[in-house]
Amino acid sequence: MVEIKSAEALEAMREAGRVVANALAAVREAADVGVSLTELDEAARAVLSKAGAGSPFLGYRPAFAFTPFPAVICTSVNDAIVHGIPTGYRLRDGDLVSIDCGAELDGWTGDAADSFIVGTPRPGDQALIDATRAALDAGIAAATPGNRIGDIGHAIGAAAREAGCGMPRDFGGHGIGRRMHEDPHVSNRGRPGRGFPLRPGLTLAIEPMFMAGGRDDYRTAPDGWSLHTADGSRAAHIEHTVAVTAEGPWVLTLP
Ligand code: MG
Ligand code: MG
Repeated sequence: MVEIKSAEALEAMREAGRVVANALAAVREAADVGVSLTELDEAARAVLSKAGAGSPFLGYRPAFAFTPFPAVICTSVNDAIVHGIPTGYRLRDGDLVSIDCGAELDGWTGDAADSFIVGTPRPGDQALIDATRAALDAGIAAATPGNRIGDIGHAIGAAAREAGCGMPRDFGGHGIGRRMHEDPHVSNRGRPGRGFPLRPGLTLAIEPMFMAGGRDDYRTAPDGWSLHTADGSRAAHIEHTVAVTAEGPWVLTLP
């Protein structure tokens, strides 16, 4: 079922989205060579706690997982694409880090992710991040009334092809609102003019995941959660929660 949100609900989702943005900013501020992934999780927890927000990640257990998720952020480093569990791993110079974070505030949810480099960038890593961000921007630009879900996926898929990047099959964005994962599914591949019609009050998490090696296959880590590129190439993942409005797309997870 797809819920069309009222203006008041969108304002409430904007507040949840602001908490997510603040948590991601705190993580990025804390991230440095020698800092552990669990310390990044603690930085996000402090922001959620201070805002009185809950975490839709903590304890989450979708059908594919055999253990509940143990943290409030996903930390996916280098060849990890998404869903990385924060461990005691300490960041090294040149690591490419993707952080995914959610927040629940007053019954509404926000979900966003960002990728960045710690220390000295390796060749190609910044270009991979820039291409992923450009794909997200193109997907967001397509989130307008009169368009369809397929227009968003088409924009993201075209950006991936142009950049020569692969995207994991089976994973994409989603409707979001009272819960983190709602209908409709927002594929990162789509046909223009096809799929669910976009109209004001629809809220979507749009999230391209790019793999530098150009392949679309991936492997799942033994922990059952973390997805890695099959060829060992690096990956980036950037996400925003976006409302379709009569005035155009409204990004709810900006600071
Ligand atoms: Mg997310
Ligand atoms: Mg999401």
